[in-house]
Amino acid sequence: MLIVGLTGGIGSGKTSLAEALARRGAVVLDVDGLGRQVIGHGGSAVEAVVERFGEEVRHPEGGIDRNALAGIVFHDEQALSDLTAISHPRINRLLDEAVAAIADDSIVIYDMAVLAESELGWSNRYPYEIVITVEAPPEVRFERLRRRGMSPEDARSRMESQASDEERQAVANYIVSNQGDLAELDHVAGEVWSELQRLHDQKRRPLG
Ligand code: ATP
Repeated sequence: MLIVGLTGGIGSGKTSLAEALARRGAVVLDVDGLGRQVIGHGGSAVEAVVERFGEEVRHPEGGIDRNALAGIVFHDEQALSDLTAISHPRINRLLDEAVAAIADDSIVIYDMAVLAESELGWSNRYPYEIVITVEAPPEVRFERLRRRGMSPEDARSRMESQASDEERQAVANYIVSNQGDLAELDHVAGEVWSELQRLHDQKRRPLG
């Protein structure tokens, strides 16, 4: 098995690259989705989050009200780090359970916005072994997000709350530029896939 951490800022196209790799045979795990799961209905972080942030973050239909929680942690570093301390170990546990069920000869991709900022997908039993970061210029990302219905103000504040390109580059083994169209990204995905297969096979090469 080879485990890859795939990250990128909002609108960079990391999920599009993950999808292109999945079409070639990668097993993609949506780590951001697991993050929503642990605070969703019946999620393992719900009670600890309510204990820390109060009943007002509990959603009337179960789980956590993500907007209420975001309103608290967005501009409060201590609150965000408390939330991270509660949620990340639980997300890591779900990740480990998912990986344990995957065939041993797989190439596994952790699709995750939050990589450079934390130990998510890294301090767990099955940590990522290499990191790919996807990049595109801010104006291209704004335009993609606008097409997805996000206002420029919203896009900008989310970008500012994420790690910078430089911080992601500092932990990346590979940097993928996604400035062109989706056909170009698919072509790059073919090259990335060949490289990942090479690394995967190299790990299995018998010595002596
Ligand atoms: P998020 O963190 O918001 O999930 P992301 O980095 O995973 O962002 P994607 O969801 O892959 O980004 O892409 C954002 C939007 O831009 C999507 O609507 C996607 O279809 C589109 N997109 C991605 N790459 C390209 C491209 N090369 N050309 C045109 N559209 C693209």
